[in-house]
Amino acid sequence: MSNASNVIIDNKEWKKPRPNVDHDNKEFWDGLKQHKFMLWKCGSCGAHYWPKAYCNQCEGSGAWASNMKWVETSGKGKIFCFNVHHMAFHPAFKDDIPYAYVLVEMNEGPLVSAMLLGTPPDDIHKVGQPVEVVYEDHPKEDFTMLRFRIAG
Ligand SMILES: [Zn+2]
Repeated sequence: MSNASNVIIDNKEWKKPRPNVDHDNKEFWDGLKQHKFMLWKCGSCGAHYWPKAYCNQCEGSGAWASNMKWVETSGKGKIFCFNVHHMAFHPAFKDDIPYAYVLVEMNEGPLVSAMLLGTPPDDIHKVGQPVEVVYEDHPKEDFTMLRFRIAG
């Protein structure tokens, strides 16, 4: 799900580590490029996963991965925990510090982590604050980075 306000286009040269896109997460990254937040869903019990996994609630039922697929989800969740970085552990993050990196419990259940945008780190007061996905497009690099922002 996207609207103009949760898409950022960044045409600067990318100097950070690139996303590690592989056979098991390609649909997730393709989803970000289409401004869709994809999670891996069990067709038997409806549980969502990220990253891709077997459904541990249906183990033994015969469902395994044959009954699972990528689906578009809300892109909304709440802060499960966070840390604020005051040091750049990679030179390309120098201009970002201080920044907050959040682990988000998505409304569908999985925990997903990314940098938090749009709010000074000192404004992050509590676990449980609602957040939403931001799609940071990098047209020159042909990928979209996942970011979060405080919902509101
Ligand atoms: Zn299941």
